[in-house]
Amino acid sequence: MQAFTYHRPTDLTEVVKILADCEDPKLLAGGMTLLPTLKQRLAAPSDLIDLARIQNLHGICEDKSEIVIGAMTCHADVAASALVRAFCPALADLAGQIGDPAVRHRGTIGGSVANADPAADYPAAVLGLNAIIETNQRRIKADDFFTDLFETALEPGEIITALRFPRPHKAQYQKFRHPASGYAVVGVMVAQFAGATRLAITGAGPNAFRPAALEEALTRSFTAKALEGLQLDPDELLSDMHASAAYRAHVALVLAQRAVGLIA
Ligand SMILES: Cc1cc2nc3c(=O)[nH]c(=O)nc-3n(C[C@H](O)[C@H](O)[C@H](O)COP(=O)(O)OP(=O)(O)OC[C@H]3O[C@@H](n4cnc5c(N)ncnc54)[C@H](O)[C@@H]3O)c2cc1C
Repeated sequence: MQAFTYHRPTDLTEVVKILADCEDPKLLAGGMTLLPTLKQRLAAPSDLIDLARIQNLHGICEDKSEIVIGAMTCHADVAASALVRAFCPALADLAGQIGDPAVRHRGTIGGSVANADPAADYPAAVLGLNAIIETNQRRIKADDFFTDLFETALEPGEIITALRFPRPHKAQYQKFRHPASGYAVVGVMVAQFAGATRLAITGAGPNAFRPAALEEALTRSFTAKALEGLQLDPDELLSDMHASAAYRAHVALVLAQRAVGLIA
């Protein structure tokens, strides 16, 4: 690991100032991804800015018809939240399926979404549940956020402050879990809203995405049968040592049908 200067600010104004003053700074949330990256010397920031002491980035609350989850809220807190479970049980279930207990108690929703790992679970929730990503500068719609492999719409130095989720009528998350890491080989979030169904797939492509044909079929008829005969194009999916693109395309359909079957 290369040497860096460690900062532990207590408010966002301080974070913004450190970001502006430093040569090559990085925000530190749970460190579950960032610290191994530093240890492997895949990144060598000049400064690490630890967000742990910024109180208003922590916690979960209800705001009118939405649930707001602070960026520094760890996965275990989302999984255990009675508020989240009452509002959208699928979101709590998804958080409870991430990694292992150590990862769930350190990893944060803001870190996961900012990192945009193609196999991470939260991107399926953010996209499938039509969340808003709040930053220190603006609000970004889920549909505009995940742009490519580990790429997002965040500008350099932009800080995620919270995730804002609307309440679906029904939702369900199903994943085919990598047996070692827990990451999604494929994960599917299906959510029914007034007049439309959203379906988001993670793990299968360079970034989470919404297959239009599947959503249209489910909006017409919210049944597992409505997805019969449809398929995803393997040419647009990832192929790696864990699964081929064709396998991922098949599993995504199976999981989508399973998710719909559980709540239809
Ligand atoms: C063994 C293991 C198993 C895992 N299994 C799973 C799994 O099954 N499913 C899954 O989804 N994930 C999994 N993860 C990932 C984990 O859940 C974390 O979500 C992920 O590592 C990032 O969150 P973090 O809080 O640790 O972020 P960090 O590692 O601290 O940061 C990650 C990146 O996000 C940036 N960042 C952090 N916070 C912000 C912010 N508020 N605004 C802007 N940028 C920010 C950082 O600068 C950094 O670039 C696993 C990780 C490990 C180590």
